[in-house]
Amino acid sequence: MGGEGTRQRRALPAKPRDRKELPLARADYGNLIAGDWHTEGEAVANVNPSDLDDTIATYAFASAEDTHAAVDAAKRAFPQWAGLTPEQRQAPLEFIGDELIRRKDEIGRLLSREEGKPLAEGVGEVARAGQFFKFYGGEALRLHGDFTQSVRPGVEVEVRREPLGVVGLITPWNFPAAIPAWKIAPALAYGNAVVFKPAELVPGTAWALAEIISRSGLPEGLFNLVMGRGKDVGEAILSARDVAAVSFTGSAATGGHIARRCAETMKKVQLEMGGKNPLVVLDDADLETAAAAALNGYSGTGQKCTASSRLVVQEGIHDRFVDALSDKLAGYTVGHALDPETKCGPVVDETQLQQDLDYIALGQQEGAELVTGGQLLNRATRGHYLAPALFTGTRNDMRINREEIFGPVCAVIRVKDYAEALAVANDTEYGLTSAICTDSLKRASHFKANSRSGIVTVNLPTGGMDYHVPFGGMKASSYGPREQGQYARDFYTTTKTAYTKP
Ligand code: NAD
Repeated sequence: MGGEGTRQRRALPAKPRDRKELPLARADYGNLIAGDWHTEGEAVANVNPSDLDDTIATYAFASAEDTHAAVDAAKRAFPQWAGLTPEQRQAPLEFIGDELIRRKDEIGRLLSREEGKPLAEGVGEVARAGQFFKFYGGEALRLHGDFTQSVRPGVEVEVRREPLGVVGLITPWNFPAAIPAWKIAPALAYGNAVVFKPAELVPGTAWALAEIISRSGLPEGLFNLVMGRGKDVGEAILSARDVAAVSFTGSAATGGHIARRCAETMKKVQLEMGGKNPLVVLDDADLETAAAAALNGYSGTGQKCTASSRLVVQEGIHDRFVDALSDKLAGYTVGHALDPETKCGPVVDETQLQQDLDYIALGQQEGAELVTGGQLLNRATRGHYLAPALFTGTRNDMRINREEIFGPVCAVIRVKDYAEALAVANDTEYGLTSAICTDSLKRASHFKANSRSGIVTVNLPTGGMDYHVPFGGMKASSYGPREQGQYARDFYTTTKTAYTKP
């Protein structure tokens, strides 16, 4: 199956990723393997989705052999790093975090240019990436074990937290700074060595992050950047015996494949995958709060695992809510990511755009009413511009409400009461985030307790999370221990129980 399976699973027409390949050229930017930068290999152009005539730079895509060299380097560097004191591990993390925050405008601009999210979101994401490093710098100092009495007289028992060894980190394109940061920072803080494989579409931000990490004072080879394809670099990470664990964020199809491959070599695995997140709006909701929360589902061009795509709306507020959200969408300017007026950037690439258009057509075939958006837009530059789409008159069993579209497309499902709203919200194979807008404390409390999702919000959007608390979902959205906050240590460490008779 693999990454290519991501596209097959949806059974909609899919084209290969639109990358210009220049195999014989030397890339502008290379991979970091064993402490050296390698620009040889296949040079792949990084194209701006806001302006297809703007090539940002070329990046060297690594091979399976390069990846194995990175794993070997990480394995060699690991004992030195694992043997340092917590304060010695904290220092590089602080350095990385400080530099990311200081250079957030510059790197945020690069991020927005290659991924397409509006500049303010790109800058905010880089600052957030910096905060992850600073948080986990502190966590390096707080990695405590337990000391307890044995059931046997005269014996002492310690439960120690120890690093795993080499971890492979595989990330998606939609948060090119934050997701790598929330994996790399805890991996390093807790004493591991890293082989980092960013998504094909966003090598620029990954390279900028790796360049900072390369100057942070880590042992040579401890951190490696291997840009490239899932079928080459990703598969090499999965096959490497010396990779102890894999943390992956991406689609459910790729995640399932990774879990099976990791089982073959007994790797610990953590998967964060898709969502089909419900936003429930009850009759007693504040209309402005509910419409603003729903609008947030379109932020990042709807290309967020946490985005609310199913709007489950009670009949008494339904029409007013649809009007309020339509009004907001009318002022939701679609444009070039670097234009300060832009609220919604382009779709990331041709493949994703085709997928969005196919689902918009499918929704109409299924009998849903397209009240606004869904058409391609022309702008001053050639880009993947799509008007945010809103469907009404949908049922939860329609494919547009079952499958992750991952674009600026939301569907309203009308329900008669709270009980039906909760049942519809939970009737999905996914379980990442959910939200309810209501003035009723009783309903809010009931929803928090009974919503089958890893993250639940009240009178807030489904997206927009803090970095010091756990992040992750239930059902097909997640697998393995949680990410973020102190909970990340459950993945990035193992316990050792030591018995001593003094
Ligand atoms: P994807 O699954 O296509 O790719 C993710 C990563 O896996 C990429 O780096 C890719 O190269 C790699 N990969 C592909 N095939 C591989 C293979 N055979 N072996 C190893 N690695 C392989 O996902 P995407 O299109 O980059 O990202 C979008 C998806 O990510 C959406 O489904 C979205 O919901 C999900 N996502 C989830 C979260 C979360 O935290 N739950 C956050 C962001 C995105």
